[in-house]
Amino acid sequence: MSGFKLGIVRLGRAAGKVKYALLDERDISLVENYAFEARMDVDKDGNGAKLYAYAYDVNKGRNSGQYLQDLLWEKHCGGVAPGWKVVHRNGVTVDNRLENLIIVSDGLVDKHIDQPSNKANREQSLYWIAVQQLQIDPLEQHFPDHIYNKYYNCNGEIIEKEEDNCVYYECHYPPCTNIEKEIREFSICGRCQDVRYCGTYCQQKDWPIHKRHCRDRRRQSSAERPPDR
Ligand SMILES: [Zn+2]
Ligand SMILES: [Zn+2]
Repeated sequence: MSGFKLGIVRLGRAAGKVKYALLDERDISLVENYAFEARMDVDKDGNGAKLYAYAYDVNKGRNSGQYLQDLLWEKHCGGVAPGWKVVHRNGVTVDNRLENLIIVSDGLVDKHIDQPSNKANREQSLYWIAVQQLQIDPLEQHFPDHIYNKYYNCNGEIIEKEEDNCVYYECHYPPCTNIEKEIREFSICGRCQDVRYCGTYCQQKDWPIHKRHCRDRRRQSSAERPPDR
């Protein structure tokens, strides 16, 4: 990690996790004029969902914004022509360092992204290394997830959690940025029925931390009932 500096912007909770965007240090001054949040883009052809950093000029309002990768590309390299798309080389869609961005024509997007399914090194990803440097926000720890969480439906619109039969989740293991390709693709923690994992590897790796927050849903609900006499 020595030799270069990064900016990290907090995007808030989305898809079951707290998300951050990575930026080159020189782009951090954007925070003076722009507000950042997480947005989900759902592929209409059923290829799943991706979480991006979205940025908007605070003086112009939320609808004036754009995805951060497009904003940065315009700033440093000129505009994005129709039929072209700015993509993240390493598959981490919130890693907006300029060296991680590349512009490709629409049809060739997949060729230029390291397949996110190849996650053998998720604990070594720059995203995770950077996020670990952050202090944990005490408020974040204090309030339950659902107060802050944003959930998205299959149109990428924000919805209430109650409708979670149509919500995409990101794998709960913090270093992993896999997002469901289909709703309810990931398996749910059987005990708390609150968090989801892309596979057993992530669930097992996350257990030492998750077990501190994992409450048995069945036992909890029976404890709330008055005892039988
Ligand atoms: Zn995972
Ligand atoms: Zn659990």
